[in-house]
Amino acid sequence: MAISVWEQSTYFAPKDLVIVGCGFVGLWTAYEAKQKNPKLNITILERGVIPSGASTRNAGFSCFGSVSELMYDVQLMGEAAMLETVKMRYDGLQRIQKVFKSKEIDYNQWGGYELFEGKKTVKDKKGKAPKSNKGASNETSELYDISKLENDIAYLNKILAPALKTPKKNGKYLPIYTNASKEIKNFGFQGIEALAFNQMEGQLNSAKLVLALQKAVQAKGVQILFSTEVKKFKPHKKGVTITTNLDAPLETKQFLICTNGFAKQLMPNLDVVPARGQVFITEPIKNLKFKGCFHFDEGYYYFRNLGNRLLLGGARNADFKNENTYSLDTSDTIQKVLEQFMMERILPKGSKKPKIELRWSGTMGMGKIKKPIIEQLQPNVYCAVRMSGMGVAIAPIVAQRALKLMKV
Ligand SMILES: Cc1cc2nc3c(=O)[nH]c(=O)nc-3n(C[C@H](O)[C@H](O)[C@H](O)COP(=O)(O)OP(=O)(O)OC[C@H]3O[C@@H](n4cnc5c(N)ncnc54)[C@H](O)[C@@H]3O)c2cc1C
Repeated sequence: MAISVWEQSTYFAPKDLVIVGCGFVGLWTAYEAKQKNPKLNITILERGVIPSGASTRNAGFSCFGSVSELMYDVQLMGEAAMLETVKMRYDGLQRIQKVFKSKEIDYNQWGGYELFEGKKTVKDKKGKAPKSNKGASNETSELYDISKLENDIAYLNKILAPALKTPKKNGKYLPIYTNASKEIKNFGFQGIEALAFNQMEGQLNSAKLVLALQKAVQAKGVQILFSTEVKKFKPHKKGVTITTNLDAPLETKQFLICTNGFAKQLMPNLDVVPARGQVFITEPIKNLKFKGCFHFDEGYYYFRNLGNRLLLGGARNADFKNENTYSLDTSDTIQKVLEQFMMERILPKGSKKPKIELRWSGTMGMGKIKKPIIEQLQPNVYCAVRMSGMGVAIAPIVAQRALKLMKV
């Protein structure tokens, strides 16, 4: 369809900033840009009829890192990089709560837990997991040694509280992580020997957050074009020319790519691998014994309550090779592992298997390390991608950093 002169001078008129991707990162960037400069003319291009990456298809954990995951991150990228990433997530979480009322996005601060099975870590002499266990980029999955738990909790509380500037009581930082192993019985878990609790994490309805952001940016004059796929972009002296599936090239002064797991499709040289995350939700379960967000196996398994239903996802490490995909199908292999995990670990022994009401998947962006990539790629072309499976909390700060880089 050729565009009309009216459309050319409005929808497709030159912009100050074009953002690709209407997920959390694209939307927060538009939101924060308008906060800084209300006059900016901004358009978001989204190829789905609704946002179609991870932001409306995740588990809604407002989390900043479980004990074993953060200890692994220290090994992987060093303490300073771990602290920086966790601070971004923590600050992002505060930003979400400042901008939106809890009711609007179903935010509940019921805390985050990590479950430990109690088997010893299987590692080679260099402390690495076997090669066959590799996932997106250099991911590995190992079992955590619970004899380290008390020490690790103490270490993380000591370094994280001052870095994050968490609340204090009587002049002392409140602990972020505590040992909650006493609760295992009350929750009814099977085969779990230890439990760590993070009182500062919460859960929300991620699609309500996306919609609230959409409404907020549109109220500030941001244009969102759905069903519009960016095919190519070409920087030039004054800006960037963007080619889409529509018969209407777009001109913009600055161009920001926020396509996370799909980053390689527009930027083949970036270290971003698509990683499918699969989820299911059960029918209501009578007397569901827990409330909150739960992680297991360095975050490879995650579950939470949604009312009295169980939402469970993950298990990518059961089939890394096939889960490095853009496909949004679900697979029998992973879904079976999740069902088994539900019956053998989460629900009390002898429970009736609940019906699964919905199964779905989304695409995450992973790489060698867990830091987001916020970079200038070419003149006037920038990217903010690779949220490493934890984009809910970090997105507002990624947005702020991208804008700083673009000097908006
Ligand atoms: C199953 C699952 C569970 C998760 N659980 C959690 C959780 O509990 N807590 C948490 O913090 N994080 C979680 N995550 C990760 C989190 O959802 C992501 O990190 C976050 O949503 C990424 O946001 P984004 O804006 O960077 O990317 P996305 O939300 O993926 O947005 C990118 C958008 O770009 C669009 N796009 C791509 N290419 C183009 C193109 N060429 N042209 C136009 N548009 C394009 C896509 O359609 C998509 O809408 C989970 C992810 C999955 C998949």
